Amino acid sequence: MKLHEYQARDILARYGVPVTGGGVATTPAEARAIAEQIGGRVVVKAQVFVGGRGKAGGVKLADTPEQVEQVAGQILGMNIKGLTVEKVLVAEAITYEREIYLGVIMDRASRRIVMMASAEGGVEIEEVAKTNPEAIVKVAAHPMLGLLEFQARDLAYGIGLTDAKQARQFAQIATALYRAYMDVDASLAEINPLVVRADGSLQALDSKIVLDDSGLFRHPDLEAMRDASDEPEAEQRARAAGITYIKLDGDIGCMVNGAGLAMATMDVVKLYGGEPANFLDIGGGASKEKVKTALQIILSDPNVKAVMFNIFGGITRVDEVAKGIVAALSEVETDVPMIARLVGTNEEEGRRILAESALIPAATLAEAAEKAVHAARAR
Ligand code: GDP
Ligand code: MN
Repeated sequence: MKLHEYQARDILARYGVPVTGGGVATTPAEARAIAEQIGGRVVVKAQVFVGGRGKAGGVKLADTPEQVEQVAGQILGMNIKGLTVEKVLVAEAITYEREIYLGVIMDRASRRIVMMASAEGGVEIEEVAKTNPEAIVKVAAHPMLGLLEFQARDLAYGIGLTDAKQARQFAQIATALYRAYMDVDASLAEINPLVVRADGSLQALDSKIVLDDSGLFRHPDLEAMRDASDEPEAEQRARAAGITYIKLDGDIGCMVNGAGLAMATMDVVKLYGGEPANFLDIGGGASKEKVKTALQIILSDPNVKAVMFNIFGGITRVDEVAKGIVAALSEVETDVPMIARLVGTNEEEGRRILAESALIPAATLAEAAEKAVHAARAR
């Protein structure tokens, strides 16, 4: 789950990161009022879940409250990379001499939490990684001790912050960012740019936090901050129904119970030359309503040319799921071919129920994948 800049900023402020204050506005008049309170030059920033807002015209400086009102009027309602701007952050404008990048990620390759810094701040780190990877310095936090003081200092020296006082402040900010990352169960936390001011002090101008969805249950306060506006409708609907759904680019819809089985199902589809249209874990106790919702979600993707059910009945009984599928099919209008492989508790009864439907039965996972790939190609 992504957080907006102003939300990430508020979290980082609690950890002692020097962020700029200001407030959030949804109308030009509100933006003006905030600017009047701040006094002086301000920056007006679109609050949308995309990088590179600056380049897209979503970040603008303004000198007077009148200008702020005008600029906010331009940015609010603006479309940036497909998203409509509904909120702007109005904050004190900072003058600076250098832009730095600082970020924390979960690095799967090294299986460590890695902190990265770059002297080339202000641009997206992916861009730096492509064009000038040597400009990025990294340290891996100790799995038990966390980010150590000397590591944070190494980062500072690595990007040319050699002044002792500056290196100390950088280390404090890095440590605060790391602690925030760990405490909120983030998958990414970054400050870009972190700027160096004329007096040598450091200041965070833009904050970003992406939360790990699997850790969200521990943070109801963060869950309450969710802005679902950038999330595809199908994924919102799935979440509300307790179904895990991730849209992919292929044409074979997959309905599976259990995350591990869903992953294995996608592998087998690929093994037989197909491409899965989605990951879908319907979870335990798949009721008729849940099966129906899942089927509607899968079919809402126009690329889907065949649907494959792979259900393992353990605690969930196969005959119950079969009833759910038949009932759901009677209520969902579609001519997409469906292949079902249902095994486990009460499978004979389940198969008998499905025999009366239009579903194509399969005895094994391999057979189901083969039939699904075949059915999709035939369309
Ligand atoms: P992003 O493009 O979406 O990452 O948005 P940022 O918040 O990082 O802003 C983009 C750029 O706008 C920054 O790299 C700065 O160059 C500039 N900017 C943002 N805030 C300020 C500010 O307070 N003062 C000045 N002078 N420039 C700013
Ligand atoms: Mn930025």
